[in-house]
Amino acid sequence: MNHSKVLKIIQVLEKEYKTPVIFLEFSNPLETLVATILSAQCTDARVNIVTKDLFRKYRTVRDYAKADIKEFERDIHSTGFYHNKAKNIINAAKMIISDFGGKVPDTMDGLLHLPGVARKTANIVLSHGFGKIDGIAVDTHVSRLSQRIGLSENKDPDKIERDLMLSIPKEHWYKINYILIMHGRKICNARKPKCEECVIRELCPRIGVK
Ligand code: SF4
Repeated sequence: MNHSKVLKIIQVLEKEYKTPVIFLEFSNPLETLVATILSAQCTDARVNIVTKDLFRKYRTVRDYAKADIKEFERDIHSTGFYHNKAKNIINAAKMIISDFGGKVPDTMDGLLHLPGVARKTANIVLSHGFGKIDGIAVDTHVSRLSQRIGLSENKDPDKIERDLMLSIPKEHWYKINYILIMHGRKICNARKPKCEECVIRELCPRIGVK
């Protein structure tokens, strides 16, 4: 897709979704990390229910590092995939203590060292936890819309992110995540996109080929 068309799409969507919405609830980098790991294959609403109690029970990296894994699994059970999530969160906390002086790392490289952390999670922790924009978090909405709108032909999230970073100026990287999520939730649903209501229908290849 040519550069001016990409910018036009971003412009129209930014106008449509003016206020950034953060769906997960957290108040520091550690909570951002834990909530984002828990959000894999789970709704943000469910994660927010679980973290309401979890963040009261586990307040520091050390609390997570010394958690009893079975008890922790019970604490996060309803978010699904709780064996892996519990193992990753507890091991990530141990590594934060052993390799990062007890502080959640604030670099992409540092975050990618932690178990259970891929680029999507690292991007979310960097942007929401530290106010640093180093990439674009590609979740299922961003992935689906990028392909439908023609921003990427790839299916792999890292490759989609690379395509988006190449075609979208950096000042839009933070917003592109939430505007695609908003548009994906509201209009461009996975099963039945509401193309007739879509503000970028004229620019979308899906309509163009009909
Ligand atoms: S026109 Fe349809 S497929 Fe294209 S972005 Fe809009 S809702 Fe999605």
